[in-house]
Amino acid sequence: MTATAPITQDVHTIPRKLPEGPVNLVGLTRDALRDALIAAGTPERQAKMRVGQIWQWIYQWGVRDFEAMTNLSKAYRAELGQKFVIELPEVVSKQVSADGTRKYLVRIAGGHEVETVYIPEADRGTLCISSQVGCTLTCSFCHTGTQKLVRNLTAGEIVGQVMLARDDLGEWPVPGAPKDETRLLSNVVLMGMGEPLYNFDAVRDAMKIAMDPEGIQLSRRRITLSTSGVVPEIAKTAEQIGCQLAVSFHATTDEVRDKLVPINKKWNIETLLNTLRDYPKVSNSERITFEYVMLKGVNDSDADARRLVKLISGIPAKINLIPFNEWPGAPYQRSDWERIESFADIVYKAGYASPIRTPRGEDIMAACGQLKSATERARKSRKDIAAEAGLG
Ligand code: SAH
Ligand code: SF4
Repeated sequence: MTATAPITQDVHTIPRKLPEGPVNLVGLTRDALRDALIAAGTPERQAKMRVGQIWQWIYQWGVRDFEAMTNLSKAYRAELGQKFVIELPEVVSKQVSADGTRKYLVRIAGGHEVETVYIPEADRGTLCISSQVGCTLTCSFCHTGTQKLVRNLTAGEIVGQVMLARDDLGEWPVPGAPKDETRLLSNVVLMGMGEPLYNFDAVRDAMKIAMDPEGIQLSRRRITLSTSGVVPEIAKTAEQIGCQLAVSFHATTDEVRDKLVPINKKWNIETLLNTLRDYPKVSNSERITFEYVMLKGVNDSDADARRLVKLISGIPAKINLIPFNEWPGAPYQRSDWERIESFADIVYKAGYASPIRTPRGEDIMAACGQLKSATERARKSRKDIAAEAGLG
């Protein structure tokens, strides 16, 4: 099917109400924090030092109260308290799965909600964070894709998810304590709700904050951004964020990918692969993760597996096979286990790691692609989605 209707929307133009009252410092870059302090009366010659001090309190120690910032004078603390706040989005509820996965329902300004998921594993703890409420895109197998984009998250709301998870895990260091190298929250994946590359600036600022060596200190090698394939933003991601990249590939012909990941009609497989070839070099990362959802009878044949390895040849890659996670009304089924193994085997024998992602937190609907805020009323109609994906 060739598309005539536009399939994306310029989300940067969606107006958002400016915050009223005191400015929230969470989510400001170091430069923006400096500007805010100067605008509030901090003398310019002190600004750099003040940024460093406040930054450490907020991001290294997890402090939320200016009164606790004991290396600042009492008068300056009071002044800060009048002009600024240090606020995270609110955790409305937390569900804990039988397998230890935690799903947080997080309320952001305007009363909207997103989900954040913490996945503990033997050698790491991964936090899956959201970048938008809903999504402009309409991948036909994704639950978030059935919900309209409500708005982009701010940088504060994005890095705020990392901070609220650290609160819940009790993981802020105590002054004077030895460094803890075995963190509960060791990795971040931008694989929650939304397309991170349609909210580039906020995602970049939030990840820069999370990577800052005087704060949360997550290595860029432990942050993975997943995109459906927003080609023009991929090079920017390499240059300006430098994190690991995962791509929602999911099909080996344009005909099938057009249906599963409709952004393919704008940037097809060949265009996407050409862009990906440069990513590891520019970002100095090792390899790209190709995500591949296993849908029964749609994209899971041995021929697909062979086409896949041929397509990506020359790109340092790992193929992450994701058994489809069902959601109410989903138009697909998960491939049988033997089929997934046979697919994985072909990919593996061609020289690529081909882990099968174990679905986590299924009992609390926390698995990949199941996130959707139940309270949002803005819905895409089933008809729209089917038409977009050429399933109608
Ligand atoms: N918008 C971004 C990131 C969020 S989705 C993207 O599309 O890459 C994270 C991953 O989960 C993507 O690879 C997505 O394709 C996959 N996914 C979505 N719905 C799924 C489902 N129902 N079952 C399994 N994986 C799914
Ligand atoms: Fe949006 Fe990603 Fe879901 Fe596609 S898979 S609809 S891009 S969240």
